[in-house]
Amino acid sequence: MSAPNIETIVSLAKRRGFVFPSSEIYGGLGSAWDYGPLGVELCNNVKRAWWRWMVYERDDIEGLDSSIILNRSVWKHSGHEETFSDPLVDCRECNSRFRYDKLLDEHPPVSAALRTLMQPSDVMRDFPCPNCGKSNWTESRPFNLMFRTQLGAAAAEDDPNALAYLRPETAQGIFINFHLVQQTMRRKVPFGIAQIGKSFRNEVTPGNFIFRTREFEQMEMEYFVRPGEDETAHQEWIDNCFNWYTSLGLSRDNLRLYEQPKEELAHYAKRTVDIHYRFFPERAEEEKHWDELMGIANRTDFDLRAHSKNPLDAEGKRVNPDSTEDLSYFDEARKERYYPYVIEPAAGVNRSVLAFLMDAYSERTNDKGETRVILQLHPDLAPIKVAVLPLARNKPEIVGMAKGIKRALQPVMRAVYDDTGGIGKLYARQDETGTPFCVTVDHQSLEDEAVTVRDRDTWEQERVKVADLQQHLRQRLEVRG
Ligand code: ATP
Repeated sequence: MSAPNIETIVSLAKRRGFVFPSSEIYGGLGSAWDYGPLGVELCNNVKRAWWRWMVYERDDIEGLDSSIILNRSVWKHSGHEETFSDPLVDCRECNSRFRYDKLLDEHPPVSAALRTLMQPSDVMRDFPCPNCGKSNWTESRPFNLMFRTQLGAAAAEDDPNALAYLRPETAQGIFINFHLVQQTMRRKVPFGIAQIGKSFRNEVTPGNFIFRTREFEQMEMEYFVRPGEDETAHQEWIDNCFNWYTSLGLSRDNLRLYEQPKEELAHYAKRTVDIHYRFFPERAEEEKHWDELMGIANRTDFDLRAHSKNPLDAEGKRVNPDSTEDLSYFDEARKERYYPYVIEPAAGVNRSVLAFLMDAYSERTNDKGETRVILQLHPDLAPIKVAVLPLARNKPEIVGMAKGIKRALQPVMRAVYDDTGGIGKLYARQDETGTPFCVTVDHQSLEDEAVTVRDRDTWEQERVKVADLQQHLRQRLEVRG
């Protein structure tokens, strides 16, 4: 079946304890979401799968967990203070605020060249405001997306020495630790550093559920290579990342690679390819179905140079008086010194969770003609791996046996026990939350020491001896350490 729209997922996510609107008892907080008992498991499983694939299953990647609040100089020399902004325009009639570039995307093509040459109010003269329909726009102005904060209790609010930012990406924490990781772990280029953590952006137009929020989590890896070997490594990471998503169940039909055209590239990027997911299948135009799930950028040597003590810029001027280190690398084998190029696969945890939920959603009609939702999540991602259900909840021997089986399974896989309804209802609940297997204990189990194992996707049932159950489930789940 075709992918559901985001609204269907919002409702399922709330109903089943995946994602709740944040601060709901106080009227909510725009575009902030809390992850409920199943949501936190799903996020953790996505992060665990990424870390295992990225760090444990390779020989050339180390992990890192850097601070969220870094020295302000990091953001000065990375370029974020100056350029990490979105262009804003206001409607003078209704005071609504929009991202200028997004508004242009909504309208008949305005070439990138024209955008830079003309004032927004001219380009947009005939654009109706999406809110009030009138056309009376302000000029656009840059709005920096970094959240500001003050360090220390004594600082005055406008004290520039106390100014700090919540990080808008995890990448910079990796660049500033490049030498420390390389030296302590005795690494030779090429190698990479991976990090998972929260990032913050004061987005102008957050929305679409967990697709775009102001607080979110990223999974980023910076892969350092010798200049000249960057293009091959970049292509390899594009292919690796695409395959990672399909290996965890995303359908190829809902994924595509998007080559950023030159005019879209960030100032530091030589080439960037995004992986798009079909997040908006309900939109009329096929081109608008797609949006970014992750990006894989070739960032050149921009970052390590930018954070290095007094490197030279293209005009030969010294550009960083604040850093105390030169982050260049000496290649012992070749006896050459260079600033490594960086290939960056950067993914969002939350956007990945949304894509996994959308792709896993399916509906199926049972023999009574009732439609059931089944969340066909990959077993590695499923929040609960097995639910143990007693067929008769008023029979102490059956209940006792079911609880005992659950306790025996819980050290090796996430297991739950549930007796809060009839068996049909219990199965339906587990299908809807993506639990791959249900184990049912019935009267017969007391005599033959066997239980029924039901498969979420096929609804097929088989009888398995309790003594073999753990091994049976582990094999079918391919639970990995
Ligand atoms: P977009 O163009 O959608 O704003 P971006 O190109 O600015 O994204 P990157 O800086 O490349 O995003 O960040 C890497 C990944 O982090 C994105 O592909 C996305 O999955 C995630 N991400 C970025 N911004 C947000 C956000 N506001 N909310 C949720 N996830 C985000």
